[in-house]
Amino acid sequence: MSNSDTPTSYRFSRRALNAQGSAIREMLKATRPDLISFAGGLPSPRLFDVSGIQESADAVLSSSPAKALQYGQTEGSPELRQALCDLMASRGLPCSPDQLLVTTGSQQGIDLLGKVMLDPGDAVALERPTYLAAIQIFSFYEANFFGVEVDAQGVDVTALEQILAQHRPKLLYLVPTFGNPSGVTLSRERRQRLLELVTRYQVLLVEDDPYSELRFSGEAEPPLIALATPEQRRWCVYLSSLSKILSPGMRLAWILAPSELLAKLTVAKQAADLHTSTLTQQVAAHYLASGRLAPHLQLARAAYSQQAQAMASALQRHFPPATLQFQTPQGGMFIWAQLSSQVNTAELLPKAAAEGVLFVPGRPFFATHPKANYLRLSFATQTPEEIEEGVRRLARAIVD
Ligand code: PMP
Repeated sequence: MSNSDTPTSYRFSRRALNAQGSAIREMLKATRPDLISFAGGLPSPRLFDVSGIQESADAVLSSSPAKALQYGQTEGSPELRQALCDLMASRGLPCSPDQLLVTTGSQQGIDLLGKVMLDPGDAVALERPTYLAAIQIFSFYEANFFGVEVDAQGVDVTALEQILAQHRPKLLYLVPTFGNPSGVTLSRERRQRLLELVTRYQVLLVEDDPYSELRFSGEAEPPLIALATPEQRRWCVYLSSLSKILSPGMRLAWILAPSELLAKLTVAKQAADLHTSTLTQQVAAHYLASGRLAPHLQLARAAYSQQAQAMASALQRHFPPATLQFQTPQGGMFIWAQLSSQVNTAELLPKAAAEGVLFVPGRPFFATHPKANYLRLSFATQTPEEIEEGVRRLARAIVD
């Protein structure tokens, strides 16, 4: 027995003992030179605006090094919060800097919400499927999950109302625009109905929105919080991030929340990491103020659109129609595909890896009643040619 296998007598917390690492993540580390991965939720590194970010980094370090390299405010740099408010105004969501908290990725935002809202056993409602790392976070806070089915119009609001009435969850966590992994966008009609529910059942709606700017076709839907009346808005929290539109390595995101909640989140953040990196905040503030984001996003949308189409068309060509079903995406980074009900995609993954292609099996995206016959494919990182070859390999692994 190696040292790392020796049982220890560490008295881990109940939280840590309950938390599950992912066996799939381990498998996805498998690598070979010609491997084509549709697994990661990463933006394409080919699209990083390296020269723009470099220019902003140079400008910040030459004009205000003392500010960029010093400790900063927990709430976030005033310059970045102002620049984020300008970005929010372009999403139909005007706000003021004091309504925002800058976080170290939205991952931290979700974690802080779990920390300030949840006691062990508290009910959390979320989509089936939903963002798997949100399930992981809420599991750390020992949440009791209630999953609600998602169809082509987004979360099933009628089923949701039953859960709200019966279990009175404290939090309702949704990715309403280009869901991860579903790719689905909640319809306008359901957005309106859902907002009526949050006040009726006094549930805090956490709207996680990292992908809305990555729309390449169809009409934009305003964030739920932008449609809310002042009374409804008291129950709305909005999270967004620069990860998918600028750089995930900078770890910059923000929360817009009612002041009473924001105050609690700010104390929790102070305890967690004092503040998000001042250097990356100043660089991003300069970058956003320079007006480079809009043209950069145009390039990103065009590339993702082409890649999404390449994947949709390859899936249609390489799979007989009844074997694999999916919706062609209008934005975001993912295609969520359904295989016949006998297939277990976790068991397929080693076969696909042997063919030289990776995907994420659907199971971990379900907090309750997991379905085994789904897989998530990211079209963000590969070229159309690689996508064609990857789908051909996938078809060999699945159809053979
Ligand atoms: N929410 C969703 C729905 C995501 O897909 C991601 C990243 N994959 C995050 C939050 C976390 O993003 P970040 O911490 O990089 O802002």
